[in-house]
Amino acid sequence: MTVIAIDGPAGAGKSTVAKQVALATGLPYLDTGAMYRCVAHAVMSSGVNTVDAEAVGEIARSARIVVESDRSELNGVDVSQVIRTPEVSSVVSIIAAHSPVRDAMRLQQRRWIDIHGGGVVEGRDIGTVVFPRADLKIFLTASPEVRAERRVSQTGGDVAQIAANIAERDRIDSTREDSPLRPADDAIHVDSSRRTIDEVVNEIVHHFRNVKGHQDNG
Ligand code: C5P
Repeated sequence: MTVIAIDGPAGAGKSTVAKQVALATGLPYLDTGAMYRCVAHAVMSSGVNTVDAEAVGEIARSARIVVESDRSELNGVDVSQVIRTPEVSSVVSIIAAHSPVRDAMRLQQRRWIDIHGGGVVEGRDIGTVVFPRADLKIFLTASPEVRAERRVSQTGGDVAQIAANIAERDRIDSTREDSPLRPADDAIHVDSSRRTIDEVVNEIVHHFRNVKGHQDNG
C-alpha cells in the first residue's frame, strides 16, 4: 500500500499540491485537516467548551465524518463550505490539541487509507505519527508573507487578520504535546515560496518515482 505524506504549516500550499500529486500518481487524496475542521464545527454547534478535552473527545468519537476529495460530511450533512470559515479556523487548533480528538482522528485516517488502498495524505503529523512508514514524506513550507497572501487569494479577507490566524495556529500546532507539527527526520523539505505549483508537484512526483524505483529494484 502506497502512502505519500505531505505535512507542513497552514497556507504552505499543501492542499493544492497534494491534489495534483494524487492526480499525477493515481492515488486517492485525503485532507486530514478537513477531519479536524469537521470536529471543530460539531463542537461549535454543540455548545461544548472547546477546552474541555474529554467532552470534545466524545464529540470526535461519535461524529460521523466522511471526507472524500473536496467534499466533507458531518453526520450526513455537507459541511464542505462551513468548515472553511474564519470562525472554524480560529478554534480548530484548540480542539485538535486534545489527545482524545487526535486518537479518534488517527484511527479514522488509518481506516480511510486501508479502505482506499493507499493515498496522498496531507496534514501536520502524517509522516511523524499517523504513517511513520510512509513511502515518501514531504515537509512543505513557505514564507509567512507568501502563506498569508495565498490564503487571502483563496478565501478573501484581510491579510493582516489571516496572517495573525496562521501564526496563532502554527504556534498551537507546533507546541502541543500530542503529535506536534514538525518535520519527520526522514522528510524531504520543500519550500514553495518562489516556485509555481507545477514545479513543486514535479519535484515531489520525481522524488516519488525515485523511491518507487528503489523499492521495485530492491
Ligand atoms: O490543513 P488545515 O489548515 O485545514 O488544518 C486545520 C487544523 O487542523 C490545523 O491548524 C491543525 O490544528 C489541525 N490538524 C492537525 N493535524 C492534522 C491536520 C490538521 O492537528 N494532521
